[in-house]
Amino acid sequence: MNNLIEEIYPQIFRVSLRIPVPLKAINIYLFKGSEGWSIVDCGFHDKESEIAWHNVFKELNIGYNDVSQIIVTHYHPDHYGGSGWLQELTGAPVLIFDKEKKYLDRTWHDKSFPTQIEQFFLQYGIPNDIALDIKDEHISRYAAVSPHPNEITLVSDGDEIQLGKYRFQTIWSPGHTEGLMTLWSEKERIFLANDLVLPKITPNISFHVNSVENPLSDFLSSLRKIRDLPADITLPGHRQIITDLGKRVDEIIDHHGDRLENVKSILKNKLVSTDIGVSAWEISKELFGPLKEAVQHRFAFAETLSHLEYLVHANEIKKIQADNNYFYFL
Ligand SMILES: [Zn+2]
Repeated sequence: MNNLIEEIYPQIFRVSLRIPVPLKAINIYLFKGSEGWSIVDCGFHDKESEIAWHNVFKELNIGYNDVSQIIVTHYHPDHYGGSGWLQELTGAPVLIFDKEKKYLDRTWHDKSFPTQIEQFFLQYGIPNDIALDIKDEHISRYAAVSPHPNEITLVSDGDEIQLGKYRFQTIWSPGHTEGLMTLWSEKERIFLANDLVLPKITPNISFHVNSVENPLSDFLSSLRKIRDLPADITLPGHRQIITDLGKRVDEIIDHHGDRLENVKSILKNKLVSTDIGVSAWEISKELFGPLKEAVQHRFAFAETLSHLEYLVHANEIKKIQADNNYFYFL
């Protein structure tokens, strides 16, 4: 267990918690302070992570009452999932951005949501069996986010939050989700990026039934907003710590520039043999190649869609809705 807990900065501990999705692990950050411990992000809730959490409490000598707050940076199950269980255990408040709440509620509390996802993706040309797998995959995640917190404390953009001995300010950073929270400590030059900036892999940017109209545009704006923060260390939601924030931000922005070009050229080539337009699925298949798991299909397809929507908003391509209600791109 020891190798999974690391003091990465004085009184800041990183725990690598296993998650049952292709990303494999999430970074949980624990801040030790005189007012108690602050936890940032929670992992999935399942039997295995319960055992891991109990080990973390034991290793770091944290009593349940020593936990003063639980910060959830966004509503995705790997970050939000264990928050309700941790609240039951510790009695600590769970803090989430006010801007994230309605998306969290729709994703996890609207019982018609899985069917909405299925219908939405079908309209963009995904095959029936894959749409059904994606729907089932969503339903299978309910267990990982249960129990939900009894009470959620809403915070706003620019609020100050004390994490252990460090003072942070929240930054609203939409794109990966609509109300994603990052935190910046100006004095200590620590940036808690969670899923806004990741090393080696790029955060998934999805256009889907529960997203805004142009999430990729939001994401690129969020990156530009934090690009020049003079951060000594950047703490991501997955994988290793980032030491050169500006460089990594530039790489991610470039990656999306390349991908937009790629999407445009795939569309152009396919338009040679049709005049009714091309479905997003045709483009996604070529962009990502063959995939196996429903969760990979969901991320890949929604990522393709976010790039197509960006190009539509930039007036570089057109989107039409045919008589059958399906969408095509031209
Ligand atoms: Zn996420």
